Amino acid sequence: MLIPIGYAGWLAWDAAAGGGSAEDDAKRPAASAAPAGPGSPSSARPLAGKTVVIDPGHNPRNRDHVAEIARAVQAGRGHKECDTTGTATDAGYAEAAFTLDVAHRMRALLEARGAKVALTHDADRPFGPCVDERARIGNAAHADAAVSVHADGSTVGNRGFHVILPAAVKQDGADTSAIVGPSRVLGERIADKFSGATGSRPANYIAAGSGVNVRDDLGGLNLSTVPKVFIECGNMRDPKDAAELTDAKWRQKAARGIADGITDFLAR
Ligand SMILES: [Zn+2]
Repeated sequence: MLIPIGYAGWLAWDAAAGGGSAEDDAKRPAASAAPAGPGSPSSARPLAGKTVVIDPGHNPRNRDHVAEIARAVQAGRGHKECDTTGTATDAGYAEAAFTLDVAHRMRALLEARGAKVALTHDADRPFGPCVDERARIGNAAHADAAVSVHADGSTVGNRGFHVILPAAVKQDGADTSAIVGPSRVLGERIADKFSGATGSRPANYIAAGSGVNVRDDLGGLNLSTVPKVFIECGNMRDPKDAAELTDAKWRQKAARGIADGITDFLAR
């Protein structure tokens, strides 16, 4: 879940905080034109030499560090809170647990395809990282692609997934001009593969059902210098979406969809 900054900056979020809304096939063939044999590195490991950074949204322990994560950080277009707790299903399955699980599944798939994979965190720190550091981790790794994994916290009846793309932002230390184009390609490939793998529809409550939304208020995107997108995999507050998000088999499909989108973006 990603709460917009709002026109009044991060303080507006503070006032509204009580409100609701706001990734197996290691033998995937290389491009048919490639003269690669079945056992060659390029066919079995299409992501060899590529670096992918996965950003599991939030942190399961953020809830115990409310003051620390409320600290304002430069988000490339005004300030924003360091991090948020994220949402949860009505039964209490936390978004932060979901994002870590999907990130682990994505990592296994991408590493099997030859990618070097780094996570921005692995619940190995007490809170965060802050959104600005999440972006900097991808930048420092010189990631070929970075994906931030989330699930939304909208109202019942709002269903489906959407990918969030960086807008053109050039202020407050941010300059997304070099990543807007490639990030859109990355996001569209992920949306396509995610939908195919999970059977999920593009969200029916945002971006006119296109499944692709552009935002200029996310520090994790604004501060990125590498192609990066967010994906909101579903709505944790809708019972039907929640039934999927809490199903490990569905999460494997979700992880495969995202990994396939990344692979499609990087391997062709
Ligand atoms: Zn989130």
